[in-house]
Amino acid sequence: MSRFMADCRRWPSDINCSLVIIGEEDEVLRAAAEHAASAHGHEDTPELRQQLREFLEPAEAYTPGPRAQEPLPG
Ligand SMILES: [Zn+2]
Repeated sequence: MSRFMADCRRWPSDINCSLVIIGEEDEVLRAAAEHAASAHGHEDTPELRQQLREFLEPAEAYTPGPRAQEPLPG
């Protein structure tokens, strides 16, 4: 089963978050939604999880160094 990554370093945030979550899709979505709620003040809703699903990248894309930030879409 392929693994996915949710990388907080990719997005601007007021806490300059460096968390990277890697695992199977459902694991990453659950952890990322809980993280978005607990650390970034988002509401853990189906819409949030849908948006997080679109942000997932293949785990192979992981790099340990800093990465360029992208503006949050929409
Ligand atoms: Zn974060």
